[in-house]
Amino acid sequence: MLRYIDFGLSHMEVPGEASICIYITGCPNQCPDCHYPELQSKDTGELLNENIEIILSFYSHIASCVCFLGEGEAGDTERNELLNYAEKAHGRGLMCCLYSGRDIVIEGWMRVFDYVKIGSYKKGRGPISSPTTNQRMYKNTSAGFVDMTSEFW
Ligand code: SF4
Repeated sequence: MLRYIDFGLSHMEVPGEASICIYITGCPNQCPDCHYPELQSKDTGELLNENIEIILSFYSHIASCVCFLGEGEAGDTERNELLNYAEKAHGRGLMCCLYSGRDIVIEGWMRVFDYVKIGSYKKGRGPISSPTTNQRMYKNTSAGFVDMTSEFW
């Protein structure tokens, strides 16, 4: 079950979107120089399934997107939970973004998201706002996922 430790509205995480950002704990990636180590804690924070409707309602009058910052332990249970939340968000007319800290190519189950960010944090490469970053942000278009990372620069 996914847990979170904070949420808030931000224009920074997804270019062009006012995003309700949900900070999900239980991250297993253990990036050296992790910039948010609290997100690595398991069993920390509130259960997201108990509060997702309240969170979506809180900013829904000014938000255009929901951004899930993390996938928890990234197992089947967490993925099904995220897919359920994406459906809820889309039902409210909100776009959906997933931040994965894993070094992967986009996985099939992620196709429900309008935006997907992938890649671990490497201090020497910088965050996604740096042109030297290893991280990538993709937008889901009719032509498939398109790399939009440069919109952060
Ligand atoms: S993915 Fe993010 S939260 Fe997880 S270890 Fe890496 S920097 Fe920290």
